[in-house]
Amino acid sequence: MFDYLVVGAGFAGAVAAERMARFYGLRVLVVDRRAHVGGNAYDHYDEAGVLVHRYGPHIFHTNSRQVFQYLSQFTSWREYEHRVLASVDGKLVPVPINLDTVNLLYDLNLSSEEEVETYFAERAEHRISIRTSEDVVVSRVGRDLYEKLFRNYTRKQWGKDPSELDAQVTARIPVRTNRDDRYFADLYQAMPRHGYTRMFENMLDHPNITLVTGTDFRDVVRDVEYGAMIYSGPVDEFFDCRFGKLPYRSLRFSHETLDMEFLQPVAVVNYPNEHAYTRITEFKHLTGQSHRQTSIVYEYPAAEGDPYYPVPTPENGALYKRYAELAKSQSRVHFVGRLATYKYYNMDQVVAQALTLCKQLAEASDFVAAPLPSRKEVVSVPALPAAAV
Ligand code: FAD
Ligand code: UDP
Repeated sequence: MFDYLVVGAGFAGAVAAERMARFYGLRVLVVDRRAHVGGNAYDHYDEAGVLVHRYGPHIFHTNSRQVFQYLSQFTSWREYEHRVLASVDGKLVPVPINLDTVNLLYDLNLSSEEEVETYFAERAEHRISIRTSEDVVVSRVGRDLYEKLFRNYTRKQWGKDPSELDAQVTARIPVRTNRDDRYFADLYQAMPRHGYTRMFENMLDHPNITLVTGTDFRDVVRDVEYGAMIYSGPVDEFFDCRFGKLPYRSLRFSHETLDMEFLQPVAVVNYPNEHAYTRITEFKHLTGQSHRQTSIVYEYPAAEGDPYYPVPTPENGALYKRYAELAKSQSRVHFVGRLATYKYYNMDQVVAQALTLCKQLAEASDFVAAPLPSRKEVVSVPALPAAAV
């Protein structure tokens, strides 16, 4: 008899299982249909011995001290600030757009933030309201930068024009007027020192947790006694797609190992206008691993395949609402994570969502926190940036 059946061993499922078992002392069964833990953040050593992310580059970043401290119980960190270049007009330029992007693309010599701001203002197209992913970019930097960097990348990635996608998609990428070329501006930016998989193994290593991989929960659910379920798979699938399939965008990953130390100057190079793939990731930049060879992955967007991204459009939002209503009516099933709540969430947001869910469930059920001693080998919480203290 288990208190909880947790479906999925990605961030949502692993955090929920860890909290329920270690903090509340409950018995948990975790089932994942993949052969491994970690969900999309899974990493492993490839045949050449290079640490790679099977499902594309995962860079940890958050402004939440709580989330960072929580995960720090299960891993130490390697400091890493992500930088991305885009291949445009035969040049490699910084993304997000910054002062150098503009100078490089247009052979200019802008040197102050004011000059860049004026450059954008002279080209920005006025929009009464910012509804779509096209609105976000053209209203800030104008049409030409939009077409060079965003329009075709977005069409490739999503199979839709930016004008069909909610504003939140391209709004993930800031626009800068200075020379800051970091992809993220968050307070905490780091990679798990020994990889994501090791971190997940540490989270799930508890006597109250039984882990079964390579198994779809539907194949075992009738044979298991459990109090309630925490589900992190696709929400439409849970209900046999009764209102129709909720679109999730997929990717095909093409991994390669090359006989050279490095291929490209940064971890990720985007190809907005060339090729069928969107970006090439070179893992050693992320992990800091030394190796005489290098491993890379190409990402080819696809309509069919494993679900990776909810597709944020007004129609899909409306369809999701119908599933969300149904989900609410399931008193013994709790939906959490990127697929189950159909939200374009980063890892840290999923961690926060799962922590909140566990707290709510505990409050509603009067679980008594059973503060068992933490793992012996738990690493100490790293020094926090001064700004966070
Ligand atoms: P998942 O990781 O998808 O886990 C769900 C698990 O449930 C899966 O393992 C699945 O096998 C299992 N499951 C589903 N259905 C069943 C079933 N019926 N039975 C049993 N098991 C089932 N976030 C960042 O913060 N930084 C990044 O740099 C970043 N890069 C990304 C790059 C790519 C290419 C992608 C696709 C995502 C990226 N993300 C990034 C987002 C990140 O992957 C997610 O936020 C996070 O992994 C979501 O965790 P989850 O547990 O909700 O879902
Ligand atoms: N995007 C783009 N050009 C770029 C980078 C991003 O058009 O060079 C758009 C694209 O629509 C992408 C979205 O911005 O899907 C969000 O980018 P992000 O890097 O956050 O995507 P993810 O890492 O989640 O795939």
